[in-house]
Amino acid sequence: MMKTILKTLLNIILYPFRIVWKVLVSLLKRFKFSIAFKISASYFFLYIFIIVIVAAITSAGYLINEIHKFEVEVISEDVEEIISIFPNMDNYVKDDRISSVEIYDSSLNTVYPTNSFERYADNIIVVAEKLISRQEYIYSSVFYYNNSDYYMNLSYSVKGMLKDALWISMLVLASGAIGMFFFVPIVSRTSYKLIGPIKNMTEITRTITVNNINTRLDIKGTEDELKELSQTFNEMMDRIEEGYKTQQQFVSDASHELRTPIAVIKGYVNMLDRWGKNDKAVLEESITAIKNETDSMQDLIEKLLFIARSDKSTLMYNKEDFKISIMLNEIEKETKMIDTKHKLYFKFYDDATIYGDPKRIKQAIRILIDNAMKFTPQDGYIMVSAYMQQDYYVIKVEDTGIGIEKKDLEKIFERLYRAEQSRSKEIGGHGLGLSIAKIIVLGHKGKIRVKSTPGKGSEFSILLPYIT
Ligand code: ADP
Repeated sequence: MMKTILKTLLNIILYPFRIVWKVLVSLLKRFKFSIAFKISASYFFLYIFIIVIVAAITSAGYLINEIHKFEVEVISEDVEEIISIFPNMDNYVKDDRISSVEIYDSSLNTVYPTNSFERYADNIIVVAEKLISRQEYIYSSVFYYNNSDYYMNLSYSVKGMLKDALWISMLVLASGAIGMFFFVPIVSRTSYKLIGPIKNMTEITRTITVNNINTRLDIKGTEDELKELSQTFNEMMDRIEEGYKTQQQFVSDASHELRTPIAVIKGYVNMLDRWGKNDKAVLEESITAIKNETDSMQDLIEKLLFIARSDKSTLMYNKEDFKISIMLNEIEKETKMIDTKHKLYFKFYDDATIYGDPKRIKQAIRILIDNAMKFTPQDGYIMVSAYMQQDYYVIKVEDTGIGIEKKDLEKIFERLYRAEQSRSKEIGGHGLGLSIAKIIVLGHKGKIRVKSTPGKGSEFSILLPYIT
């Protein structure tokens, strides 16, 4: 019973503290998580600081002014009177306003009153100290009497003035407090308005998915840093959208490329099903066609896998130091064996040791030579040359083929891109060769370049850094 009463009593006593604690915690939380609240709080503290300073300056100014007036109107008269009767101070009748009069000789020993132990005070710190502790103003002055200097301290009670000064500061503080009723809502509304665009941005950003990837932030309105942020965000979204679209286009193009050979194979399988069992010619034709299509599909899938691996950064190169001349000689031999339709020239001027994956580098050079073969009519020239040029070893493949239009030149390294005139069935290709060559060359810190004149021929160069 006693315990419960004690507990209830304790709860009642602690209740106000609990409320204060809760308010403090909630304020701290808001301070931590809300920029608008932080801005409002900073302005609020600044406002209080200014009001306090204004109150202090106003009352100090009032006090200084009143004391000055008092010095001119009252004290100077008292000083004159004292000097006029000095040293017969016994005749002096102290005015009520004056709390005390002390006179010192040139060695600052008290002359009047004789029983005084007060020290001569003329510095501002002592004056201020007396003003605060005793609410008295000490006036000090020097006068000359009988060939000697005398010092005088007159103390006046300034209780009234101090009270007025305090009232003035109270008034200023009170008007500041009234001003706060207008100031706080205005400041908090302004800061929430200022932060509004960020809230808006957060909300819009939260809703962006691949389905509405074209959503952008509203950048109308003022030209401030937030607009710059929104603009930068929108530009980033533009890039992401473009990349996403390219990726989607690639997937759709790749599916399309695969759909054609599958349709062809299906067609031949149907043909085989109907007539192929008995008709040897149909059988032969179907087998050849299916073989070609499956080869082409395998080639396409391998290329697509290569690109996908490169995108995922899982493409591995087995790099080693190797002599490029050995590889170039191999390529020359192989090309001469495959291609009997063109006039082939091979000119390797220098040899070099290269650090790289020989299989991949050979694949990249082969892609250029295969293209030269594909896009150069019969009896045209194909020339492969290799030499050192400054920091790079250059492998150049030139042909006198159909060439590439200017508008296509910047696109031929894109995935699945084929120039208009080369999209015939006989020429073949999926538009992936140059993308792969570029991936390989860049993977070896090299460069790939192209020059071409439509109708005259093309010149592709691979530049690879070499060791010696
Ligand atoms: P493809 O498998 O179609 O050859 P590539 O990526 O290797 O794909 O080449 C892309 C396109 O660049 C080709 O379709 C062709 O239009 C053009 N091209 C590449 N090499 C040559 C060349 N030596 N002469 C003319 N056009 C070329």
